[in-house]
Amino acid sequence: MTNHTEVAVIGGGIVGCAVAYYTAKTGREVTVIEKNELASGTSSHCDGNILVIDKEPGFDSKMTRESQRLVSELSKELPLSFEYRQPGSILVCESDDEMDAAKQWVEDQVSHGLEFSLLDRSDLRQESHYLADDLYGGLECASDSTVNPYLLTYALFKGAKTYGAKAMTHAEVTSIKKSEHRFRIQTSKGEVTADQVINCAGVWAPKIGELNELTIPIVPRKGHILVSTRQVPVSPRKVMEFSYLMTKFGKERTVDELTERYGAALVFEPTESQNFLLGSSREFVGFDSSINWKAVRAIANRCMRFYPKLADMNLLRVYSGFRPWTSDHLPIVSEVEQLPGYYIAAGHEGDGIGLAPITGKLIAELIDEQSPSIDPHPLRFSRWNKEGVSV
Ligand SMILES: Cc1cc2nc3c(=O)[nH]c(=O)nc-3n(C[C@H](O)[C@H](O)[C@H](O)COP(=O)(O)OP(=O)(O)OC[C@H]3O[C@@H](n4cnc5c(N)ncnc54)[C@H](O)[C@@H]3O)c2cc1C
Repeated sequence: MTNHTEVAVIGGGIVGCAVAYYTAKTGREVTVIEKNELASGTSSHCDGNILVIDKEPGFDSKMTRESQRLVSELSKELPLSFEYRQPGSILVCESDDEMDAAKQWVEDQVSHGLEFSLLDRSDLRQESHYLADDLYGGLECASDSTVNPYLLTYALFKGAKTYGAKAMTHAEVTSIKKSEHRFRIQTSKGEVTADQVINCAGVWAPKIGELNELTIPIVPRKGHILVSTRQVPVSPRKVMEFSYLMTKFGKERTVDELTERYGAALVFEPTESQNFLLGSSREFVGFDSSINWKAVRAIANRCMRFYPKLADMNLLRVYSGFRPWTSDHLPIVSEVEQLPGYYIAAGHEGDGIGLAPITGKLIAELIDEQSPSIDPHPLRFSRWNKEGVSV
């Protein structure tokens, strides 16, 4: 039997569920098609930070700031709570050069109207007595927030359900054909027809794209997270090292060979259940999800450099996940010109948890031809040519 839906969302990660929520809210009939369970992909193999602190001032920070506002709204309107908090976040510096760059970063951000301030040594002492004594200072972004990504994915879908959305789980999409104005989608659980298709398959979006001969230039960028046992409160909020920004934007850092090789940088995130998460690493190794203990060691060493007392604390487990990376570090949130009715919402790299709400809202607005909440131009699919080369 064939099921019909107005909008078929392929992929039940946080992005697919955000698209389902905002689209169903506009009154459309929505079905999420997911090959495993909701949140079984990257959205359950990550951290849950929603950060402006590491965004270039301009479009990137504006888009994230808008998403932070939406997440705060969602914390009041979704039917499930998702451990939302807004404690701000900080970056710490370990040299005069980094402090100079941090000062510049704060000035640029403040001139764009963002809530940044510089921190000195004594501010760091007040932040946490576990931080290393030799740190020079750092900077703070007060608007930064945090969520449990797993719970937010489920909360978004539960919210979508209240507007009539459905989910088909354990249904793998194997073919998509367009005839007349309808898409015929074959899944391992039967056929679905739809007026619009939204490809929200994260790192698997290129595989879904291939079904319609679309080259979607998203590549998996692996990262590891270390999870501690429950501990004394080490630090009250998210802490990263300033040189993390250098790794993120592919710039040079002055660190040892192992740290450099795995792009390891301090990312400390306390959770509501009194564990903390430590990250992170960045590697291009295809879809190899096995734990790379050298990368884990590099992360642990880096974290102990900033929090020496971690050496006496225990870890519970380690996991890896794949960030959906694009060459310009921006996601694709766009209709595909050559295939009207087909949209892509994927490629959020290390920011998909934070950017899911604005992505879902933008897709709903594009489908409805409403004026968009943010300029969609920088997110268009046509910034690459048919071979996937940037134009
Ligand atoms: C180590 C690490 C730390 C991170 N930390 C943060 C952070 O602090 N803050 C932040 O904002 N982001 C963070 N991220 C990034 C964030 O996790 C991702 O950007 C986000 O989860 C992507 O969500 P998604 O819905 O696009 O993809 P996914 O969650 O991967 O969802 C895609 C879904 O598509 C499904 N699918 C694939 N193929 C098919 C098919 N053929 N048929 C049907 N379904 C299919 C998959 O099963 C999957 O469930 C981190 C990522 C990593 C790896």
